[in-house]
Amino acid sequence: MAGFDFDLFVIGAGSGGVRAARVSAAYGAKVAIAEEHKVGGTCVIRGCVPKKLLVYGSHFAEDLADARRFGWAVPDCKFAWPVLRDNVLAEVTRLEAAYTDTLEHHGVEIIHARARVAGSHEVKVGKRVIRAKTILIATGAHPMLPEFPGAQHGFTSNEAFHLERLPKRIVIAGAGYIANEFAGIFHGFGSHVTLVNRSDVILRGYDESIRDRLLQISMTKGIEYRFNVTFEKISRSRDRSLKVHMKGCDSIAADAVMYAIGRVPNTRSLGLETAGIKTDGKGAVPVNENNRSTCPSIYAVGDVTNRVQLTPVAIREGQAFADTMFGGNPCKVDYGSIPSAVFSHPPLAGVGMTESQAREKLGSVKIFTSDFRAMKNVLAGRNERALYKLVVDGGTDEVVGIHMIGPDAPEILQAAAIAVKAKLKKSDFDQVVALHPTMAEELVLMR
Ligand SMILES: Cc1cc2nc3c(=O)[nH]c(=O)nc-3n(C[C@H](O)[C@H](O)[C@H](O)COP(=O)(O)OP(=O)(O)OC[C@H]3O[C@@H](n4cnc5c(N)ncnc54)[C@H](O)[C@@H]3O)c2cc1C
Repeated sequence: MAGFDFDLFVIGAGSGGVRAARVSAAYGAKVAIAEEHKVGGTCVIRGCVPKKLLVYGSHFAEDLADARRFGWAVPDCKFAWPVLRDNVLAEVTRLEAAYTDTLEHHGVEIIHARARVAGSHEVKVGKRVIRAKTILIATGAHPMLPEFPGAQHGFTSNEAFHLERLPKRIVIAGAGYIANEFAGIFHGFGSHVTLVNRSDVILRGYDESIRDRLLQISMTKGIEYRFNVTFEKISRSRDRSLKVHMKGCDSIAADAVMYAIGRVPNTRSLGLETAGIKTDGKGAVPVNENNRSTCPSIYAVGDVTNRVQLTPVAIREGQAFADTMFGGNPCKVDYGSIPSAVFSHPPLAGVGMTESQAREKLGSVKIFTSDFRAMKNVLAGRNERALYKLVVDGGTDEVVGIHMIGPDAPEILQAAAIAVKAKLKKSDFDQVVALHPTMAEELVLMR
């Protein structure tokens, strides 16, 4: 390490950076990590974790209503947003401390400040220049903000967790997983939700039948959609309410507007040019399969590379980086068959090829579906149907995709994804005896 302050300097203590720093230190490397906000990053502080807690919180609206059909005398319940908000933020603070402890326990030096690259082996933190043999960029991404008159009246998912009060009426811009999840969250809390999208497709990349089912269920619940429209202006009225003016549909009166229109890699003012690194058209750091940038001593993992913007992927990339660089175990991340979910109401999840992808790529395709009402929904009188789909290669009988919407779909799909990764055949599914009575048994009963 002659001439260097650290073997590894990590910029960004999120999912990817924390894993890379901790494991590299465990292998014996001298590691520092810089974090300008809070240790834990997007997932822990303003992403997966607080969002899932809000999803749980909002689902009580339906659970409490259904409870009456199961014999429970439920008094008129009132929801207090400040209670849930503060409890969620307290949990986030607990997790931030746990992540900090883990890093410190492994001997990683945490620098609570913004860092920028100042050369192929140099990082600048304030006025201090630190020399590192290897630099890892793990700065993540931030929500994209639109540009039109009055756009400043809206907020993003970053602010959604801190709202002072719940909006009675909210317009959510976007149609990806964050937009749909927050549509379900706010609807559950009693807000009137209008989801506005510039195209007529929601959740691009997920199976068409599953997306259509979510749309149908959400509309039945009362969530409104406006498709093929663009924002023109947001104005604030005297009574503090907002008016959202749009091209393609009438203007909407609302109390809040949330933007969930994409996420941009955090590379601005990061000094990458000092090491000769050029970002791509979306601002991401281009890397090879070993996470190495065009500068041999600088690597990047996670959302800042804009490959697959998911926490488990960032963690895998951070782990592969550490194993390869400091563990004597060169390895690459396998990006095939990554399962993913949308924690909407009801949730949906998928792994592998969608039906249309399979039809485009494979010679012959067999589709098996189960369209059913979960037992609990039947007794609750909830007319909400689950849909499971197996996509099978007609030539080999291999199950190349599983897609589902319904209660607990992400929990069920995580286990089922093993079968897709292991390239199991439909006949393997058929041989498994059903576990009754479950929803998951539908997976082995489709004929
Ligand atoms: C609302 C929401 C919900 C989500 N839900 C899910 C989900 O359910 N499942 C899932 O898998 N993924 C989910 N994600 C995505 C997931 O959070 C990200 O994919 C993941 O956090 C990426 O990890 P990362 O390490 O690349 O970056 P991040 O976790 O974003 O960490 C980057 C860190 O770098 C810091 N930083 C940036 N620049 C600098 C600098 N110059 N100096 C010092 N520090 C810097 C940032 O403050 C941040 O802490 C969600 C994201 C959002 C926004």
